[in-house]
This record gives sequence, C-alpha cells and structure tokens, in this order.
Amino acid sequence: MRRKLVVGNWKMNGSLAGNEALLSGIAAGTGAAGADCAVCAPAPYLAQCQVALSGGAVGLGAQDVSAQAAGAFTGEVSAAMLAEFGCRYAIVGHSERRAMHAESNELVANKAVAALAAGITPIVCVGETLAQREAGQTQQVVSAQLDAVLALLGEGDVAHIVVAYEPVWAIGTGKTATPEMAQEVHAQLRAQLKQTNAVAADTVQILYGGSMKPENAKELMAQPDIDGGLIGGAALKAADFLAIIHAA
Ligand code: PGA
Repeated sequence: MRRKLVVGNWKMNGSLAGNEALLSGIAAGTGAAGADCAVCAPAPYLAQCQVALSGGAVGLGAQDVSAQAAGAFTGEVSAAMLAEFGCRYAIVGHSERRAMHAESNELVANKAVAALAAGITPIVCVGETLAQREAGQTQQVVSAQLDAVLALLGEGDVAHIVVAYEPVWAIGTGKTATPEMAQEVHAQLRAQLKQTNAVAADTVQILYGGSMKPENAKELMAQPDIDGGLIGGAALKAADFLAIIHAA
C-alpha cells in the first residue's frame, strides 16, 4: 500500500510575510492528515521554510537543482546546498523549465542523479503538450522522458524517486485530465518503472499535476496508480492545499 503524497509547487510566488502566513495555515491543518505532504519553495525562502516547518509533518523541497556538484555555475544551486537547508525533495524537469530553459531529457536525468547523490528525492516531472496528445504521442513522449532518467539510475535508486505526470495542457489552465486519462498514463509509467525494478515500482509514488484542486482531487487520487498530487495554483492558499491533503 503506497502512502499518498501531496506536494505544493509554489513556483515564483511568495514573500517573507506571505510565506509565514501560508506555512502557519498549512501547519495548523495537517494534524490528522493521513497523507505525506511537502512544499517546494523558491530557493531564497528555503531557510525561512526550514525554520517554520521544523519538527512538523510538512516536508520541504526545492523547485530545481543543479546537475553539477560545485564550481563556476553562476546562478545554480547544488543538491548539497539544498540538503543543508533540509530539503527532502527537489522537483526536476518541470515543464516550465523544459520549455523556458530548454532543459533536455538528459539534463533532467542528470539533475535527478545529483539529487539522489545528496540524499534528496527527485520529483521527476513528465508530460505531453496538447499538440503531442492530439497527435497520439503521449505515451511515446512521457516514456522517453522517464527512460532518460531510468537509464542513469541504478536498480536500487528506483525506490528513491517520485514521478509526477503533468500534462502540459493542464498546468495552470483549469483543464484537468480526466481521472481515466491520467490513470492510463500512470499505469504505463508504473509498467515502465517495473522494467527497471519490479519490486520498487510498486512503492514509487506517481503524482498527478495540472489544475488539481479541492473539487477534483479525491476523484483523481482514487485511481489505483495516482498516488497524490503536485499542486501549483491551489497550493498558494492554505485552505485549498489542506483540502487536497485531506482528500488524499
Ligand atoms: P497547477 O500547476 O496546479 O497550477 O496547474 C501544477 C504544476 O505546474 O506543478
């Protein structure tokens, strides 16, 4: 039985004062939650979040990580640095970074490896664009994205990743994949994980992301291979984020 995991992706939102209110609102409501949860904050706020969340049930994550360990990489943040600020997770390969920062499948795979080396669980994002879905390429696209990561992982690493299926056309658009559409892709992703490690594949949490909100969270997470959510917009309001956590 996999535990559900609900992760907030704050993207480039927040302020010291706003984060404080959001984090205390979240912490106050997670008491009886049966699911794991975490927030992925912008890098400058990780220190603030680490202090605010310490000792509580809400985990901390970053939204990206460098594939490099250290050195002349201006603007980059290493996995070791994230670990020092208590990050349990790092999102890698979010579609916004793939699209706006030209991140390739190979770079995303190297970022996942860098995170794992620092003891951080990479949340590996995969997903097709609307044009790719309409061209019938969904399976091919997401499996190539996941394959690039699996190619660099040892068999034992599979148990230490999280996968997030985020159809690009559903992100921030209010359009959600139907539970059946999402389940179909999640099942394919799990079958693909099984080819690398049959035992670990059953324990890997595969999250759905893309306009998940309190109104649709329960139905999505009721699917057998949907193990939680990666939440953007709805993670910026404590009440909405908590409602999704409690739906899990
Ligand atoms: P959304 O974003 O929930 O606002 O659609 C999800 C994501 O990009 O991770």
